Amino acid sequence: MFLFARIAAELARLALYQGSLEDAGQHAAVSHAAATEHECRGCGAGIAATLIEVACANGELTIADARRTEGLEHAFRLGLPVASAEIRAASARLLVAHGDVAGARNECIEALAVFEQSGPTYLAERTRRRIAEIDVEGKAHTA
Ligand SMILES: [Zn+2]
Repeated sequence: MFLFARIAAELARLALYQGSLEDAGQHAAVSHAAATEHECRGCGAGIAATLIEVACANGELTIADARRTEGLEHAFRLGLPVASAEIRAASARLLVAHGDVAGARNECIEALAVFEQSGPTYLAERTRRRIAEIDVEGKAHTA
C-alpha cells in the first residue's frame, strides 16, 4: 500500500490532463483514502497538490480547501518546502475560484521562487504557465 496513494494521485493527474474529470475524482478519492489509511504524512504532503487541482476542476471547493489545509500541515510538520510550495501553487485555482486573483498570483510567485531555488524544473515551468493563465483570467475579470 505504500506507493499506492501516490500512484493513484498520478492516475488522477493524468485523467485531469486528459479531461476525464470523473475518473480524476475517483482516482483522487482512492489516493486520499490510501494515504489516510496508512497515516502517512509523506504521502499526504506528496498527493495534496494533485487532490486540490482535481477537486477544483470538479468544482468541489470545500474538498479542495480541506485538502489544502491537510497537505500544508503534513508538509510543514515534515519540513518539506518544495511540497509546501507545490500545494500553494495548486491552491491558486482555489483562490481564483474564490475570486482572489491577486492572492492566487502571489501564491504562485512565492512557490516559483522556491522551485527556482530548489525544486524540479517541471514544477517551475508548470507554475510559470499557471501565472500566465492567472494573468489572462485577471484581465478577463477586470475587462
Ligand atoms: Zn505513505
